[in-house]
Amino acid sequence: MPKEPTFENALAFARDLIRIPALSGKEGEVAKRILLEMNDLGYDETRIDDLGNVIGVVRGAQGGAPVMLNCHMDVVAEGDPEAWEHPPFDAVLSEGYLHGRGSMDIKGPLAIQTHVAAALKGQAQGDVVVAHTVFEERGGWGMEHLLANREVEPAAVIIGEATQGDITTGHRGRGEVEVVLRGLAGHASAPERARNALTLVPPVLKALEDLAGRQSVDPVLGAASLVATGIDILPESRNVVPDQAVVVVDWRVLPESTHEELIQQLRDSISLYLPEVPSGMGVEIRMAKERQEAYTGRSEVRDLYTPGFLMDADDPVILAAARAVGKRRGDGAAEIRPWTFATDGGWSCGVFGIPTLGFAPGEERFAHTNRERLELEEAQWAFSRHQELILAVQRALR
Ligand SMILES: [Zn+2]
Repeated sequence: MPKEPTFENALAFARDLIRIPALSGKEGEVAKRILLEMNDLGYDETRIDDLGNVIGVVRGAQGGAPVMLNCHMDVVAEGDPEAWEHPPFDAVLSEGYLHGRGSMDIKGPLAIQTHVAAALKGQAQGDVVVAHTVFEERGGWGMEHLLANREVEPAAVIIGEATQGDITTGHRGRGEVEVVLRGLAGHASAPERARNALTLVPPVLKALEDLAGRQSVDPVLGAASLVATGIDILPESRNVVPDQAVVVVDWRVLPESTHEELIQQLRDSISLYLPEVPSGMGVEIRMAKERQEAYTGRSEVRDLYTPGFLMDADDPVILAAARAVGKRRGDGAAEIRPWTFATDGGWSCGVFGIPTLGFAPGEERFAHTNRERLELEEAQWAFSRHQELILAVQRALR
């Protein structure tokens, strides 16, 4: 007998997952546990791809549009465990909430998605594909890989990042850019022999501030924004005139922007405030990168970049979804709005052009904090709305 896809069983599954903490690249044990649950629930097909994403399929009738449900398997670090009201990985149930790292971002919604798909066995017109990805918290390598390799080919994607029961349609993207300022290192006792890279920092900060005030505005997503979030100095010794200062820029970008265009904007602004680079010194602008290593052993140097996306609020899929879900309190369709933070939807919709929306319980303000929690009553309501949501999205895609 397969396991019953109920809210109670989904909650127990979510608590198991919280007890298996996994930062990006360490999702192996979480993936195994999810695969086990999918098999227990009687999924028609389950597998793990070469990057470590978990994929399960509940077959629908022939000819219907396949819809993919997606959450990620990684969490962000817990910080100081003492600063939590409840221990971060104990999955405590208290005062109507499930507490802990991952409770809302995103193991609670992941468990709900995994169970509701099984409940649709034999009922949906098209396949319900459940794909939980790796590396979402570090730019979304998992989702990019899943879609680029055609591991799955969904006609629409439903993402389980917190929406508090609303239907979300997109978000700004995030790019991390570095301005590398180069000089010549020297002994601090003889600064005249060196070229201090720090002298180039003030005009660059001015250029960034100026550029930040001239960003394009989207009527739904708001303005793109950028801010300097750090400076790395090399060498680190405090008795050396540094030959390198790297100014780190966090840039929240609109969906249509490209790497080349970001770098060009920054280059133009810096040339206003630093028209001539002193001889023997240099300025380089580049996307920040890091080497990422998956738990399956694959490794790649990747840009720290999550694309943005935005669906039309009157797209038939969005309207059908909002009507199917309905308001949690009161009558009428669910609210339609963008997210504040970035998700894997930037890949599925922004890059691969697949209609994508968000629906999940949970309040954005608790994500990535030591107060992370999921309201059980809201989670149960969201569980009960999923079935109609998936069927409505499949109908709207016909
Ligand atoms: Zn998340």
